[in-house]
Amino acid sequence: GLSGKLQEVFKKLKGKGKLSEKDVKEAMREVKIALLEADVNFKVVKDFVNKVTEKSLGQEVLESLTPAQQVIKIVNDELTNLMGSIQSKINYGSKPPTIIMMVGLQGSGKTTTSGKLANMLKTQGKNPLLVACDIYRPAAIKQLQVVGSKVNVPVFSMGDKTNPVDIAKGALDYAVSNNFNVMIIDTAGRLHIDEELMDELVNIKLSLKPHEILLVVDSMTGQDAVNVAEVFNNKLGIDGVILTKLDGDTRGGAALSIRAVTQKPIKFVAMGEKLSDIEPFHPDRMASRILGMGDVLSLIEKVQTQIDEKKAAELEKKLLSQQFSFDDFLDQLQGIKKMGPIEELFSMIPGLNASKFKGMSISDKDIKRIEAIIQSMTKEERQNPIIINGSRKKRIAAGSGTSIQQVNSLLKQFEQTKKMVKQFADAGKDMKKGKIRM
Ligand code: GDP
Ligand code: MG
Repeated sequence: GLSGKLQEVFKKLKGKGKLSEKDVKEAMREVKIALLEADVNFKVVKDFVNKVTEKSLGQEVLESLTPAQQVIKIVNDELTNLMGSIQSKINYGSKPPTIIMMVGLQGSGKTTTSGKLANMLKTQGKNPLLVACDIYRPAAIKQLQVVGSKVNVPVFSMGDKTNPVDIAKGALDYAVSNNFNVMIIDTAGRLHIDEELMDELVNIKLSLKPHEILLVVDSMTGQDAVNVAEVFNNKLGIDGVILTKLDGDTRGGAALSIRAVTQKPIKFVAMGEKLSDIEPFHPDRMASRILGMGDVLSLIEKVQTQIDEKKAAELEKKLLSQQFSFDDFLDQLQGIKKMGPIEELFSMIPGLNASKFKGMSISDKDIKRIEAIIQSMTKEERQNPIIINGSRKKRIAAGSGTSIQQVNSLLKQFEQTKKMVKQFADAGKDMKKGKIRM
């Protein structure tokens, strides 16, 4: 598969020390073939390879990575970008019910996925209603009812003699009067795109004004899935895509091309027939999966360590030159908040007397107050707190809705932190020199 092919390319690169322009171009030629074989759209491949080549040749040097690792990192970043870079969420309406319309070709997985989505939203505290608007496929309504009963979500239906627009309107009334806050409309599909189907979907769209039109596509159909997405997007307008059957033997082409071709995000992926087999789509995780997890994770770790080391070095420099400011202090606080109680944190650092910090903890409320005080300081005061005299303290207290005592206490805490951070940095230095072992 694609993963294996890409890993082969990178293995060859890793065997080399320095990379020449020829090495990079040769590797990119192979990446291109691997992507095309995985059924990624031709134009998408071309753009992708051009971008990666350009970045690889003009790359900024990260000291902690080998040239081959840098190329892998660039490929990873660009794959992530290709798939939209951030995780996309459902658009909820400003007032309930939020209307979600599921569209797609026959067999793509609309009915199954409607049930999966209802199930997922239910676990998130929503109260969804499934709506049966496929009046053509024999037993389509029954299928949705079976799915609905499995996940314990009611199904609204008006049989197969009413037209889908009226069913959808009826469902909306029903949802409003019965306090359903999400409606998931399961629509009809065809084997191929046809005008009649599109007209029907457009009519439902015009009369219901859904908050989300989600296109369900079968990832096993590769390039075809991308063509379908393009047509649905042009004719109907979609808000996002759900890729199904990722558990099957997919080559990855659909996942990689859809976003680039339609500019619409993949919002969820389904990878199984069970009603719990649905997940939000994370572009970065998908990129890692394509590239081979181990490689990418260790890479990201390395880059992260480098960033942490750089930050620590900057901090150390600031401390030594007495430039540690209230802005840095605020940064530290945010970091500490993320890491947990200070006491616990310090107890992990050898050579540091943790008992000194016993009972020290910072709550969210403390942090909010401290933030307010720091934000009431001028830029100059933050950089050089020595100038904060009595009248400045009064102004800061008034500006932040705190008392002069609280401002005083923060100033004292700041001095303490300055000392503490210095101790931190010293301990770190000793650790590097081998005086302390962890
Ligand atoms: P619809 O015609 O678009 O409503 O598609 P259905 O929901 O009826 O699904 C068509 C077939 O695909 C059914 O047999 C489903 O069980 C199957 N299916 C749907 N989603 C997935 C998935 O994520 N993985 C697998 N393996 N099968 C799926
Ligand atoms: Mg169906």
